[in-house]
Amino acid sequence: MAALAEAATRITRGECVAVPTETVYGLAADAGNADAVAGIYAAKGRPSFNPLIVHVANLAAAERLAMFDDDARMLATLFWPGPLTLVLPLRDGAPITSLVTAGLTTVAIRVPRHRAMQGLIAAAGRPLAAPSANASNGISPTRASHVAASLGSRVPLILDDGATEAGLESTIIAGRTVLRPGPITAADLPFATTPYIKESAITAPGQLATHYAPRKPLRLDAAAARPGEWLIGFGAISGDDTLSAAGDLREAAARLFDALHRADASDRTGIAVAPVPRDGLGEAINDRLGRAAHR
Ligand code: AMP
Ligand code: MG
Repeated sequence: MAALAEAATRITRGECVAVPTETVYGLAADAGNADAVAGIYAAKGRPSFNPLIVHVANLAAAERLAMFDDDARMLATLFWPGPLTLVLPLRDGAPITSLVTAGLTTVAIRVPRHRAMQGLIAAAGRPLAAPSANASNGISPTRASHVAASLGSRVPLILDDGATEAGLESTIIAGRTVLRPGPITAADLPFATTPYIKESAITAPGQLATHYAPRKPLRLDAAAARPGEWLIGFGAISGDDTLSAAGDLREAAARLFDALHRADASDRTGIAVAPVPRDGLGEAINDRLGRAAHR
């Protein structure tokens, strides 16, 4: 199919492509390419960086990215390919950019059943990161026309394979906890589920780590480093590390989580970050920096 080949070529070039899955239409990009994944956020206009689901061809491919225990392997065997996403510990050296996991040490993985998404993963020959293909706060698209109406010219190619089957995002499971209900219900699972504790109800931060944050104090809008601080620069302010010397927000997004990890791992006691403009992807970058600063 010519459209699939073109889509795969665009993926390997670092572009995003909209593709149907059995849940909703996804906006896919190379999960190993930080700049390509930044392009997903740019196209969606997402005001914050949520970790994205990585789509792979089969269980063997998933096991190259994450560590499976017996429960996870049982779920994969029962429900893959299908609308079930597993949150698992990220394998050391897995070729996934930190922007996909939003800096976490876990990764959300799924083996989709839809022929278009399966075909695209095979043709591109790599794991694909894909959230729903709609503008931020929009409704999840179940038809190619929904994607076009929501994202329009911000997506270079939409693979149209009709309406999606489930029309509902995948069920997400971490351990024996359902993080997001979906097409596979608790009653379908081979074990009793444990209740999901909402993050807002947790008093000690980090108990439910759905967001990575550095352990060190982080100061925003810094023009220069104070004694003991590691400076993350932007634009004209260059630091120990610089998100983008050119002031490019997409480049900054692509480097953000690696930069935070490097700052945390440094020998300094604090982290300072230069001002980052709030337009476009800058909104999501500032959202993450703000959360990292106030915890
Ligand atoms: P979407 O890609 O738009 O379907 O959304 C993905 C969902 O998966 C979001 O609700 C994320 O918070 C969740 N998710 C992805 N990765 C993780 C992870 N490592 N830990 C917990 N939740 C995750
Ligand atoms: Mg969505």
